[in-house]
Amino acid sequence: MEKFQELGLNGEILKGVADLGFVTPSPVQEKAIPVILGEQNDLVVLAQTGTGKTAAFGLPLLQKIDTERNDTQVLILSPTRELCMQIGNDLRNYAKYRPDIRVACVYGGTDIRKQIREVKQGIHIIVATPGRLVDMINRKAIHIETVFAVVLDEADEMLNMGFQEDLDFILSNTPKEKNTYLFSATMPKEVERIAKNYLIEPQEIAVGKKNQGADTVSHHYYMVRAKDCYETLRRVIDCAPDMYAIIFTRTKNDASEIAKHLQRDGIDCDALHGDLSQAQRDNVMTAFRAKRLKVLVATDVAARGLDVDCLTHVINYNLPEDVESYTHRSGRTGRAGKEGISIAIIHSKEKGKLRRIEKIIKKTFEYKSVPQGEEICRAQLAFWADKIIASEYQDNLALYEQEVYDKFAAYSKEELIQHLVSYEFGRLLKKYKNTEDLNVVEEEKKGKNKKAKEEKATIAYSTFILNIGRQDGLTPKELMGMINKYSRHKGVEIGDIRIFNTDTKFEVEEQVASDMAIDFKKVLYKGIPLELKAIPTRKEGRRRREEHGKERFPAKRERREKRSRKDRRAGELPEKRRGRPGSNPKKPRNFNRSSAGGK
Ligand code: ADP
Ligand code: MG
Repeated sequence: MEKFQELGLNGEILKGVADLGFVTPSPVQEKAIPVILGEQNDLVVLAQTGTGKTAAFGLPLLQKIDTERNDTQVLILSPTRELCMQIGNDLRNYAKYRPDIRVACVYGGTDIRKQIREVKQGIHIIVATPGRLVDMINRKAIHIETVFAVVLDEADEMLNMGFQEDLDFILSNTPKEKNTYLFSATMPKEVERIAKNYLIEPQEIAVGKKNQGADTVSHHYYMVRAKDCYETLRRVIDCAPDMYAIIFTRTKNDASEIAKHLQRDGIDCDALHGDLSQAQRDNVMTAFRAKRLKVLVATDVAARGLDVDCLTHVINYNLPEDVESYTHRSGRTGRAGKEGISIAIIHSKEKGKLRRIEKIIKKTFEYKSVPQGEEICRAQLAFWADKIIASEYQDNLALYEQEVYDKFAAYSKEELIQHLVSYEFGRLLKKYKNTEDLNVVEEEKKGKNKKAKEEKATIAYSTFILNIGRQDGLTPKELMGMINKYSRHKGVEIGDIRIFNTDTKFEVEEQVASDMAIDFKKVLYKGIPLELKAIPTRKEGRRRREEHGKERFPAKRERREKRSRKDRRAGELPEKRRGRPGSNPKKPRNFNRSSAGGK
């Protein structure tokens, strides 16, 4: 607190800051606050997102407001409506103990008459988007000739969005005797031009090296084929059960498509982009801030400057067009000293772009392998188990405890856990049962992988049928465990496993097959004696048929026919329909002349 006081803040504003829990000023605040509190100093501040710029201009300007007067004294311009509202909120929080300071937000997409009525009361600080402000000035609803300070927040983005002319118009309506404070993450030519034309000998403050990402952000990348990007995204999300993230896309269309797909896949998410109505955007942001949404899919413009606390991840679904945007995107996470992860999903042709970004941000991207089903299921199960253990409302259960105990009395602890898991994760476990490897392996690794695959393909397997299945609670993992436990051979190569309701088919390498049936004799599974039957290979089947005759060892096709003949006799299948023309009752018989009056 003393630190803030040393910068020149005092009284009620200082109290407001203390309530927010700010203890020490951030570097940009330390440099900018004294300058803004002083007289006649224009200012250009270059600082990345998340460095505390709002308070850097908000606190000193609030302190300078004279509430004896009823006119507009400060104008703050920001590129988007969301940002506008965020700044408005922040200011009201800082001025918690100064209810006499009136702040209004002016932005497009809502009823202009309501806003006009609001500003008519006399507003000290106006936070506005350029477009709507121009409208209000033209309608003579707002008078900005009285301001002593203008803040251009996210100036580069305002220019990117084509507000150049509006800015010129607005600034030409402000008095000469004022201070202008320009805040920007980057300093392109257009921003420089604005600074040159409208700022008078501005002081320059740059915090951190330009375009350098926060230290608390790790950068990861996945490399996949373009068609696998979505599947990769979904797996990455599913593999991080506590994720709270923004996914960036290049276009509005991508944003809304991806959000739709994720929703369909059961992930709490929504899209934020310029094509939404204002009410829709508000709803999305409220839900996201309240963490009712796990992920937000957004375009760069829509998400610019938004301060959402505690994002765990930022995901670049496409790499941004320009490298600088990557800094803004990844700057949404790793805020306030917390760890964050910025993920890029790329295809192999984008490797060069990734390297260029690395050079600029001076960080290396860590290669990550796209998670497979097993890893995802493990992560989800562990998260779920931790949540259950951490739940703390047991005391309220006393009234119902006995009933619940009675319901579950017949089940062992293991059985209950199995039921719980299957109830909660049945769908997920099924979805991720046999996942494909999506990684595009880089050249040097490729050779090795191919070899391993080829080796696997040349192994000869024998197939078995086991007399237990899904209804007995058997899982592939359990089966693999049993094979390794009871087989006399170590590290048995296991092929395909298919668990049916009452039995299970699985393959093991041919060499150990003859011992398999013996090793499984007398083994019990939950009290059920196991029966293992070998299914002959095709070659073996053919040999047996030739040796012992078709009657004893019918081929699969013959077995099937025999069965269906039997069923039909029992009246379970309809009599086989003959392919005679005209036998279909729905189709009218076609009497053509030649057959009707035929000779
Ligand atoms: P920027 O505009 O530079 O992107 P913000 O002004 O939105 O950054 O601030 C980012 C976050 O840091 C906000 O959540 C804000 O409450 C917090 N913050 C700002 N200043 C401080 C401070 N001195 N101490 C602690 N937290 C701060
Ligand atoms: Mg900001």
